[in-house]
Amino acid sequence: MNPSVLIVGAGPVGLTLACELTRYRVPVRIVDKTSQRTDKSKAIVLWSRTLELLDRGDRGSSPFVEAGFKVDGVNIVAADGAVVGHVKMDSAPSPYPYALMLPQSDSERLLEAHLETLGLRVERQVEATSFTDSGAAHGVGEVVPLQANNSDSDSAGKHARHYQDQQAHRPRDW
Ligand SMILES: Cc1cc2nc3c(=O)[nH]c(=O)nc-3n(C[C@H](O)[C@H](O)[C@H](O)COP(=O)(O)OP(=O)(O)OC[C@H]3O[C@@H](n4cnc5c(N)ncnc54)[C@H](O)[C@@H]3O)c2cc1C
Repeated sequence: MNPSVLIVGAGPVGLTLACELTRYRVPVRIVDKTSQRTDKSKAIVLWSRTLELLDRGDRGSSPFVEAGFKVDGVNIVAADGAVVGHVKMDSAPSPYPYALMLPQSDSERLLEAHLETLGLRVERQVEATSFTDSGAAHGVGEVVPLQANNSDSDSAGKHARHYQDQQAHRPRDW
């Protein structure tokens, strides 16, 4: 099947979108300009509703819950150490009545692993550098081919070859 959706960016949003579209058997291609996943914590909380939505997928939210740290309350502490407030987080009417602390690096790892079980891999070191919306030709517009770009500074030639190789195998209507 030729990909009909191009996802630019394999952060949590792109990876989740790729998992969901693949689950609905929509052919997808997902690219990211970086050579590897982030190793930074960045987005660090999964909320109850997110975990509920992850349950719609084949593996559900359990890999995330197992990897994360459940927070059912938060103290607000003043500079002198006095506790000035407490927020309970365990009253949400959800199977997941807590905030799940999970660094973005782990979320991406789990999402990417899940995506691979669905048969799709992130194409890395591929950068989208231009986009053309050509109207209704394909119902949702048209994306011009990705152009390799030297995101990691010193290997433009390698990326250009990667790009050319990809063009040789790409449907013409991309
Ligand atoms: C330093 C830092 C700290 C943060 N701390 C927190 C925090 O404590 N709590 C919190 O909730 N959120 C935090 N955030 C925000 C959080 O990281 C974002 O909300 C989250 O990453 C958004 O996910 P995303 O998938 O939309 O985008 P991103 O995670 O940014 O992923 C986008 C991906 O797209 C790729 N990409 C971009 N352009 C192109 C292109 N043209 N071609 C190919 N690939 C491309 C990038 O390489 C990247 O992998 C932080 C962000 C930063 C930078």
